Amino acid sequence: PELINRIAAGEVVERPASALKELVENSLDAGASQVSVRLSAGGLELIEVADDGSGMAAGDLRLALERHATSKLPGDAIDRVASFGFRGEALPSIASVSLLTIESRVSGADGWRIQIDHGEFMGEGPAALPPGTRIRVEQLFEKVPARRKFLRSPRAEYAACLDTVKRLAMARSDVAFTFDHDGRRILTLQPAEPPARVAELLSHELNRHGVGIDCEREGLRLTGVISLPTFNRGVADQQYLFVNNRPVKDRLLVGALRAAYRDLIARDRHPIAALFLDAPLDEVDVNVHPAKTEVRFRDPASVRGLIVGGLRRALDGESQ
Ligand code: ADP
Ligand code: MG
Repeated sequence: PELINRIAAGEVVERPASALKELVENSLDAGASQVSVRLSAGGLELIEVADDGSGMAAGDLRLALERHATSKLPGDAIDRVASFGFRGEALPSIASVSLLTIESRVSGADGWRIQIDHGEFMGEGPAALPPGTRIRVEQLFEKVPARRKFLRSPRAEYAACLDTVKRLAMARSDVAFTFDHDGRRILTLQPAEPPARVAELLSHELNRHGVGIDCEREGLRLTGVISLPTFNRGVADQQYLFVNNRPVKDRLLVGALRAAYRDLIARDRHPIAALFLDAPLDEVDVNVHPAKTEVRFRDPASVRGLIVGGLRRALDGESQ
């Protein structure tokens, strides 16, 4: 069973940033108002996520490490939109490829701690911590050569982790975040309105060289900010896209963004954007892939039309 776990882990957790994403999403699902992330060596040595969310009782802690034991099975569409998790795979997957320590405490009860070493139960006992959950992932993939060999330098893994935190912090501007790497504070984010959070995390120059977006059509709403075509930093990967407040990297959305800039921007340049698409639940399925960064739209053409049209109008308006 252990071997099966390790193979399956690759689906959900392929690098430190994907483990980090799952952990932070769990914190957000647990209703945290503060999420603190600490990494060493790009997450290869340590990923620690602490939150002040609901916490888990001792019995639930054990349960959380069993495959497909999710407390969030999608009973109805409302639940599906409200929470990131839905398969109960992340924690068991991470537990099978690392040294995992979970400490958790429900308000009004004592804390509990459990440790799993590469899928093997190592022990459990009382723990002292404030209400919430603290999870440490060490030795990630150290015993999984097939995965280890695809990892990049600590620097590159760090960049991917930072990107992951930025995306989730933009999606949940109401939550406070801190992010530390190798003992240095990288981000301190207080709760803010979405535009203020975005402005804080995107290039500061975009505050002067950006266009605000707010358009609506047939129940679809698009908000956010995009860079003026004249503000070309040529940075790829500075496109932060969200559907119903989930970070996505969807081909249709990226393509629509690109199309809006056609003839306005050189082919080797990239617009900077933070775009939030809100769509009715029957128009969109965000749970297509285990990593959930792709979306399926019921009417892709209409979504594309809204985005290209809306962005184009905003850009044209600015250039006159
Ligand atoms: P999923 O998020 O899909 O349910 P996970 O493997 O990510 O699956 O987590 C398993 C379960 O562990 C969750 O359903 C939740 O009940 C519990 N859990 C995980 N992380 C936390 C956390 N930070 N705070 C409270 N509960 C958590
Ligand atoms: Mg989860």
